[in-house]
Amino acid sequence: MKFYVLTLFPEMVEQGLNTSIIGRAVQAGHLSLEARNIRDYSKNKHNKVDDYPYGGGAGMLMQAQPVYDAWKAVTGELGRKPRCIYLTPQGRVFSQKLAKELAQEEELIFLCGHYEGIDERVLEEIVTDQVSIGDYVLTGGELPAMVMIDAISRMVPGVLSNEESGSTESFENCLLEYPQYTRPEEWEGKRVPQVLLSGHHKRIEEWRREQSIERTRARRPDLWEAYRQSTEGYLSEKNLAFPEKL
Ligand code: SAM
Repeated sequence: MKFYVLTLFPEMVEQGLNTSIIGRAVQAGHLSLEARNIRDYSKNKHNKVDDYPYGGGAGMLMQAQPVYDAWKAVTGELGRKPRCIYLTPQGRVFSQKLAKELAQEEELIFLCGHYEGIDERVLEEIVTDQVSIGDYVLTGGELPAMVMIDAISRMVPGVLSNEESGSTESFENCLLEYPQYTRPEEWEGKRVPQVLLSGHHKRIEEWRREQSIERTRARRPDLWEAYRQSTEGYLSEKNLAFPEKL
C-alpha cells in the first residue's frame, strides 16, 4: 500500500509515522509513505502558497495552483489517479468501516489543508473523498492524515504481527472490545477475573462477549443500537432471546 501526502509540513508527517508498528511496516516494505511539500510547487518568487479570500473574512486560503501542481506531479509519476482524500471538518466522519474500505486500495493521496483551507476550485478538480476525523477544528490536515494512515495501515496484510488482534478489536461487529489484563494476577489488591485464569476457552469466550456487549451498551448507545439492529434478524431467525440482561 502506498500513501502520498500533499502537505506544507512533510517532516511532521514523516516523523510522526516513522516509529513503532507503522515505521516497521514501512521498513519491511508492507507500506510506503511519501510526503510531498506543496510549497515546492509554488510559482511565486517568495514560495508563497496562500492569499486573502475573495469577499473578505478572517485568515488566508491555500491557492489552487501549487496544490494542483503537487497532485499532478504525483499522478503523473504514477500514471494513474488514485483516490484523493481531502482532510476537512466538512467531510464524512472517518470510521473503522471507511478504514477497511480504503485499505483495499493500492495507492491513496491525502491532501492536507492549512490556514482557512484551500481554494474550492482545485478541490472540485482533484478530490474524490472529503473526510473529517471528528466535529472539531484543527490547525491543519496533517494530524488527521496521520490518524487515517495509521488506522488504514493496520488492515494491510503483514502490518500487524498477529492478524487476529485486528479482528477482535473495538468496532468489529459494532461492539467495543472486552477488558484485558496482564501480569501480575493481583495488583493493588485488584485481582484478574477468575474466569481468565481458568484455562476454559469456551467460558472465556462467553465472558468476553458478555463484557463487550455490556461495555458497548453502557458507553456507546449509538453502537449498541446498530449492534441490536444487525443481530435482531439473526436471533429471531434462530428463535433465540436477545441478551437484554447480562
Ligand atoms: N475554515 C475551515 C472550515 O471551517 O471548514 C477549517 C480550516 S482548518 C483551520 C485548516 C485545515 O485543517 C483544513 O483545511 C483541514 O485540512 C484540516 N482540518 C481541521 N479540522 C479537521 C478535522 N476535524 N478533520 C479533518 N481535517 C481537519
